[in-house]
Amino acid sequence: MAEIVCPNCRVKVPLKDVGDGPAEEIVECPSCGMLIDVVEQARHREEQDVAAEWDGVKARRKKEVNLIVVIVLLAVIIAGITIYMYCILNP
Ligand SMILES: [Zn+2]
Repeated sequence: MAEIVCPNCRVKVPLKDVGDGPAEEIVECPSCGMLIDVVEQARHREEQDVAAEWDGVKARRKKEVNLIVVIVLLAVIIAGITIYMYCILNP
């Protein structure tokens, strides 16, 4: 069942399931009595979800960049050791 969060007191307000009928647009908060615009709240929450998702993408990208830096460093070190050994073994 769908629910929205009251912007005034942060209480979760369940939305009545209306089936195929038109959805409720205004609900009254059972805690503080505030009238909440369901459409506005749903859009607001969607925006928050998108922002949270974007933050996750940025965090993952940062981790990937760190991993690539470590791999490149290791590759450079291994290449350096290989060239050094080659020079020692083939005077
Ligand atoms: Zn409320």
